[in-house]
Amino acid sequence: MTLFDVVFKGNDAVYGLTEQAIDAAIEKHGADKAVAFPDTAYSLPCYYGVTGTKVGNLGELKTALGVVKTLMTRNPRLHDGFMSGIATALCAEFIEVLKYIDGAAPYEAPCYGHLADAVIRELGVPLVTGDIPGVAVILGAAPTAQEGVDLIKSYQAQGILVTLVGGIIDQCEELGYKTGANVRVIPLGKDVTAVIHVVSVAVRAALIFGNIQGGDAAGLMKYTFERVPAFVNAFAPLDEVIVACGAGAIALGFPVITNEETFRVPKSLIVQKDVSKFNATSLEARDIKIKITNIDIPVAFASAFEGEIIRRGDMQVEFDGSRVDCFELVQTKEASEIEDHKIEVFGPDIDEMPVGSKQSIGYIVEVAGKSMQTDFEPVFERKFHSYLNCVEGMMHTGQRDMIRIRLSKDTYNAGFRLKHIGEVLYAKVKSEFAAVVDKCQVKVYSIAEDCTKLRHELAIPAFDKRDERLTSLTDESVGVYYSCIMCQAFSPSHVCVVTPERLGLCGAVSWLDAKATNELDPQGPCQVITKEKIIDERIGEYEDVNDAVRKFSQGALDDVSLYSIIEKPMTSCGCFECICGIEPLSNGVCIANREYAGMTPIGMTFSELASMTGGGVQTPGFMGHGKHFISSKKFMKAEGGVARIVWMPKELKETVAERLNATAKELYNIDNFVDMIGDETVAEDPETLLAFLEEKGHPALTMEPMM
Ligand code: SF4
Ligand code: ZN
Repeated sequence: MTLFDVVFKGNDAVYGLTEQAIDAAIEKHGADKAVAFPDTAYSLPCYYGVTGTKVGNLGELKTALGVVKTLMTRNPRLHDGFMSGIATALCAEFIEVLKYIDGAAPYEAPCYGHLADAVIRELGVPLVTGDIPGVAVILGAAPTAQEGVDLIKSYQAQGILVTLVGGIIDQCEELGYKTGANVRVIPLGKDVTAVIHVVSVAVRAALIFGNIQGGDAAGLMKYTFERVPAFVNAFAPLDEVIVACGAGAIALGFPVITNEETFRVPKSLIVQKDVSKFNATSLEARDIKIKITNIDIPVAFASAFEGEIIRRGDMQVEFDGSRVDCFELVQTKEASEIEDHKIEVFGPDIDEMPVGSKQSIGYIVEVAGKSMQTDFEPVFERKFHSYLNCVEGMMHTGQRDMIRIRLSKDTYNAGFRLKHIGEVLYAKVKSEFAAVVDKCQVKVYSIAEDCTKLRHELAIPAFDKRDERLTSLTDESVGVYYSCIMCQAFSPSHVCVVTPERLGLCGAVSWLDAKATNELDPQGPCQVITKEKIIDERIGEYEDVNDAVRKFSQGALDDVSLYSIIEKPMTSCGCFECICGIEPLSNGVCIANREYAGMTPIGMTFSELASMTGGGVQTPGFMGHGKHFISSKKFMKAEGGVARIVWMPKELKETVAERLNATAKELYNIDNFVDMIGDETVAEDPETLLAFLEEKGHPALTMEPMM
């Protein structure tokens, strides 16, 4: 048998099963029965990606199967092999979607099954920044459970996202190995068809971030090949079905590495008998480079641990800024004041702290460098959260003087002490900010009185000074703006224009961040944009900004405004914190944040809004933006400003209330503006919302018509 025979045979087998399953479902539920995956705007994302058709019910699914059949040509050449691989993947998607009929929840912990659109959007940023350098798909059972877990662990330590299908899941359970999205190990399901749930992630990345249109199969395959750094590790024994699925993976550009002696296809189907070498072979095959920072600590350091949760019972001690005095601070010093890599601990170490107790902590990272600017201090400081979270067994929340840090017993027992906090901060600041930091030292304080004194006399005044600087930063007061194209790895035509009053739509790049990024890496993603040639002040359009956008989008965009949602709005990549969209009845806009899963009065959920807004194209009437932008005086300035906001989820309202109220007071002399804005407890439909707004006398009702 040739490889083609095996692929065709596997494809035929799966096709047969799929046909039976669909027929049985139609028999049972009728052809009109609705069928789709939950929490996605694409119904069956892979089928939609390949054909551009959204399947709505079982009858349409049967028709779709007919379309799949047309892909199953049987000439022994590469094209037919790939297409049969794709056909197998689509059949797997059909079999899996049938499990979700009637709103069923077919997967039980630890398995995830289908992943929501929201999960894919969340993965966008770390994939773009290289924080997640790759995606591993592990299929089947390793020779021994220990070898399987060791392989997973090796990927985790590199920050690679791991998905599991089949016997490997039982092997993790057998050894009590922790899995879950928070540690970037996602068991999908035990049937081989569950592999489609990771394929679906890759396909939706192309639809969401890449602006690939459904039906553009060639564009889709090009995108996944070039931009989704995934690969497959398939354990022996392989059957025809797995091989056929593998052909699908290869068609998408994902190499398959296996320990079974089977056919070999250079760069695509690779035999590696030694499972301990799977990691290295896979990374090489997919050309994934891992950034290593050597940090002298007794536990692992990897972004896979960022979402790790430490429960009360597992914790050795807690530093809790909400109860006692704590702070973290970066300070610029003269080079002569700093001894590089000096780490000092002032006060008792963790050994002397009662187990489970709440303690004070303060740490100051002192830096010096010829190109260092005080403006960069908050940029470094904000990264501490992520640095400390990457320590295995450490959880960090908050910032400035409102931090909370939990340390697990395991990590303490492994030898982790206070000086290691200094080691982590030192190593990361030195490596990530090498362009501006020549020398760095860290001081850690653990005596309560010291923390109190330093918090009030040193840290808080420093934070206040920074805040003053921030409020004085307006779009008018600065000489230049910055571009950010970090997201082009995923959204090739997307450009953010970052100004003091309009941060990047991901919420993670402020004007100061962009400025620092530019200084740190002058050829990097953030470039200076001058703002000398104003075209239209009302909507914030500049000739220089247009030139920059045209250049950085490689001609995909001609012009953008900074302050309008209707005229030439900025594009969205896919990782926006919020989306606002016009709600015609109330003559205003509704805003939904990513965390909000419910309905908006626009008649769409966040995911549905997001599917109209992403991909680096301009969509007048809809706009992705950061949370902070909501209280900006430049928010929709062209359409009348924040007074247009008629609805937001309650939680978002609470987050932005203080600043938004201040802005509304300043712009329109309205008190407690936020109370006039509807939320899901008031209305999820336009009519009820309108009645509420009328009762409150909301300003949008008397403003000029938006459309
Ligand atoms: Fe992406 Fe824009 Fe954020 Fe840059 S500022 S990372 S381009 S969303
Ligand atoms: Zn983005």
